[in-house]
Amino acid sequence: MVCYGAFDQVIQGVAVDKGNARAGVLMRQITGLYQRLLLTLFTLMPMMAVAYIEVFQEPSLRFESHMVHEMAIALAITLSAFITYVTWRCYTVSGEVLVRWLALGFLGFTLIYLPHGLLTRLAPDDQGLFLVYGPVSRLAMAVCFLVGLYYHDAPADALESRKRLSPWIKAGAAFLALDLVLAGVYFLSATQVKFLFTMVEIVALILLLAGVLFMALRRFRLPLMVIYMISLGVLSQSSIAFLLSDIWSHQWWLAHGISAAGFFILSFGVVQAFRTTRSFSTVYSQAQVMEQLRVQQARTLDALAQLEKANTQLARQAATDWLTGTANRRQHTTRAKEDIARASRDDGDLSVLCLDIDHFKQINDSHGHDVGDEVLKGMCIEIQRNLRAQDLLSRVGGEEFQVLLPETDLGQAARIAERIRAAVAALRFQAEDTTVGITLSIGCAQLGQDGIDMDALTRKGDKRLYLAKEGGRNQVVTDDAPVALSD
Ligand code: GH3
Ligand code: MG
Ligand code: MG
Repeated sequence: MVCYGAFDQVIQGVAVDKGNARAGVLMRQITGLYQRLLLTLFTLMPMMAVAYIEVFQEPSLRFESHMVHEMAIALAITLSAFITYVTWRCYTVSGEVLVRWLALGFLGFTLIYLPHGLLTRLAPDDQGLFLVYGPVSRLAMAVCFLVGLYYHDAPADALESRKRLSPWIKAGAAFLALDLVLAGVYFLSATQVKFLFTMVEIVALILLLAGVLFMALRRFRLPLMVIYMISLGVLSQSSIAFLLSDIWSHQWWLAHGISAAGFFILSFGVVQAFRTTRSFSTVYSQAQVMEQLRVQQARTLDALAQLEKANTQLARQAATDWLTGTANRRQHTTRAKEDIARASRDDGDLSVLCLDIDHFKQINDSHGHDVGDEVLKGMCIEIQRNLRAQDLLSRVGGEEFQVLLPETDLGQAARIAERIRAAVAALRFQAEDTTVGITLSIGCAQLGQDGIDMDALTRKGDKRLYLAKEGGRNQVVTDDAPVALSD
């Protein structure tokens, strides 16, 4: 069996201590054992009453009330007819073979037990005729219940065959015919009748016990099947009580009570089935439901984590440039707005660098586009290395970049730009059998003095970048004065 601890581990993300897990498994085994013991004791409770009466009751005590007997049988027949109908309704929906045999068992019991009530008044004159329908009705029920159990996992009956009434009418007719055949006991002697009853009751008892044993060995755990097992166990004890009893004795009445109890338990199961899946052997146990829930929960959490990861990845992809991994224009605009708002609110500094590679076209032309790409990537890595965590490098065009520098005035920006310029100028890139280098022209602008929004800052930065180009490239420009040409 799968250990629940493993699921807890998945759900809570906590490493369960091995010792705790072992103690948990042991506790589950002990409580499981206790649960089975309780069920066994509960099932065997009628035996206490049977044993009590057998040992302590004065055997000569009789309660011969025809009226009470008739009323009890009338009630039993009514309920049994009702539960036959409910079971049949379950069968028409689920088509379960087990449910078919259950319905047949209830039908048989109803029709065979009926004369037992009707013939109550015959009791003083012909006990055999009066009594015979009791054990035989229990035997018929036991046979059907056992057969049903045997077919508990058979495939469901076809839809059209479930709805057919003729098999049920035929079965009902067969049970009524059996009633007539049983009337033949009228011609048997008292000893023969006694022998017959004992044999029938013993066979019923054996079949009921076989059913209990079958279920115990197969370890049936589904709740309705457990109810089935308990009811067979209780019914078998009613057979024991009948075997021990004489007519109208207290043991005899008790046997009726136990039989009713067995019937009630099983009909409770049938009603449960009717109110749920209309089937007996597919209703999940609480343990199974819990286990499925845990697995599903673990799966859901896993899926959520993956979704979150995918979302983060998507967000990153949407914000970054595919080639260089730097921020793209969209991310740049968003961050610039935030940074400008913050700087304006806190009266802080903010500067922008506009960068453009000098004669980049020549790199592409001389060494190919791939080398150009490598140069772009390598240059970005180098620029990032010269920035702080709060700075943002963005690719705003083909080989045009911007750097947002929060909490930085123009003087500091110029120093950072110079550092970047020098670092990039020192880089060497492999191009087939030679190495190439690049230089950058950089224009700087500061929030406030050069503009109050990103457009204005960019315009200013670009203008100074242009001046840097004009001035001979590979340089940083921080004001609008024309730059003297460098060599
Ligand atoms: P200047 O110094 O005036 O800036 O000269 P330049 O050659 O760099 O001129 P310009 O900025 O106009 O040229 C940009 C070139 O950058 C054109 C284009 O081929 C190249 N480029 C743009 N995007 C990419 C890219 O993703 N990969 C590569 N390899 N080249 C690119
Ligand atoms: Mg350019
Ligand atoms: Mg350029």
